[in-house]
Amino acid sequence: MGAPDEIMRKAVMPTYGRAPVSFVRGAGSWLYTAEGDAYLDFASGIAVNIFGHSHPRLVEALTSQAGQLWHTSNLYQIPQQEKLAYRLAQHAKLDHTFFCNSGAEANEAAVKVARRFQYRSGHPERIKIICAGGAFHGRTLAMLAATDKELFREGFGPMPEGFVHVPFGNLNALRDMMSDDVAAIMVEPVQGEGGARAAPEGYLDGLAAAAEEFGALIIADEVQCGLGRTGKMFAYQHSSIQPDVVVLAKGLGGGIPIGAVIARADIGEAMGPGSHGSTFGGNPLSTACGNAVLDGLEEEGFMAGVRHRISLLDDVVSRLKTRYPDIIIEVRGAGFLRGMRLHDDIVAGEVTAALREQQLLIVPAADNVIRLLPPLTITEDEIAQAEAHLITCFDSFSASR
Ligand SMILES: *Cc1c(COP(=O)(O)O)cnc(C)c1O
Repeated sequence: MGAPDEIMRKAVMPTYGRAPVSFVRGAGSWLYTAEGDAYLDFASGIAVNIFGHSHPRLVEALTSQAGQLWHTSNLYQIPQQEKLAYRLAQHAKLDHTFFCNSGAEANEAAVKVARRFQYRSGHPERIKIICAGGAFHGRTLAMLAATDKELFREGFGPMPEGFVHVPFGNLNALRDMMSDDVAAIMVEPVQGEGGARAAPEGYLDGLAAAAEEFGALIIADEVQCGLGRTGKMFAYQHSSIQPDVVVLAKGLGGGIPIGAVIARADIGEAMGPGSHGSTFGGNPLSTACGNAVLDGLEEEGFMAGVRHRISLLDDVVSRLKTRYPDIIIEVRGAGFLRGMRLHDDIVAGEVTAALREQQLLIVPAADNVIRLLPPLTITEDEIAQAEAHLITCFDSFSASR
C-alpha cells in the first residue's frame, strides 16, 4: 500500500504548517536527516526532549520496560505509576497525582478537579476559571476556552462556559475579576506559546493572595516551563507561592506521551473512584520513562549544571540584544524558555526558517517572538554554536533592511 511520498504526505490532515525537513535519527542536542545533515536542536520538540535525543538513561528505561510490560490499564495497580505519583507529589509539596497523556488533557483534568473540589466543599457556585491574557492551555474544547487566542476557536463553537481572561501580570485586573463564583485561577508561571513571558516580579504572590481571599484554587500550568527548564524543578518556585494543583506534560516522559495533575490531599480526595479516568494514563511504559526523567533531574549536581548553562544563554541573549537593537526589541522568558521579541518588520517565522537553513532549530511564539528551548543537557559549546548561528542570521537580516 505504498505510494509516492507527496501522495502519502497529503493523507495527513493539514492541521500544521510544517517545515520541509524530516529527521531519521537524534543524538544529544542533534537531529540528523537521511542525508546525514546535522541540525542543532534548540526546539526540543517544543520542550519535550528535555535530555535531548537518545539519552542512554531514557533509552535504557524505555527498552527495559518495553521488554517487560507496556500496558495493563488502570483496572490494576501499577507500581511504576505509584512511584512517579509519589515523587512528583514530593517535589510539588502536594499529595495526589493523576496521569493522562498530554498537556491539554492534564489541564482539562485540573479544571475538573478544581470544580469538583469546590462542589464537594459546599460551593457548587464556584465554577469560574480565571485565565491570563496570552495563555495557552491546549486544544481540547475546554482548553480552547481557557486559551487566549480567538483564532484557535474559530469555527469550533460553542465553547464550554466559565472561562474568563485577565491581562497577564496585572494584579488590579485580576482582583477586579475575583468574585465568589471563582473556582480557580489558572496560570503559566512562564508563558510559552504566548511569547515566552515570565510572570512579573511579585505577580504570583499577589495572585496567591487574591486566590486565598476568595477561596479560589491556584492551578499552575507547568506543562512547558516546569521540570527544570527555568533552573528549578517548577517555575513557580522562583516565587513563594504554593499552588494547589500543578500540571505537567511535555518533558515528563522525555518524548513518551504523559501528562500529570498533582493536587493537594483534600482536592485529590474530592475525586473518588469513577470520577475521572484515562485508558492509557500512567501505564507502565510511560511512567517508567517519567521515573527515568526524574532520576536525571534529581541527579546530584544536574540542576546546578542547568543553572550554569542557563546563565551562559542569558549572556548570549543579552549580548545579542546589545548588538542588534534594530532587530531585537526585548529579551523575554526565563532560563531555557527564552524569547527574543523582534521588531515588527522582521517576521519571527522568517527568522526561524533562516536559522533552519543554517541548521539551527528554534520555535516561533506569539508577539513576533523567537523562542529558544534547548534540551536541559545542552552543552556550553553548543550554546556557543547557537550564538554564532544567531549572529550570522541577524547580520543577514540587518544587511537586507
Ligand atoms: C503545550 C502546552 C499545553 C498543551 O499540551 P499538549 O500536550 O499539546 O496538549 C498546555 N499548556 C502549556 C503551557 C503548553 O505549553
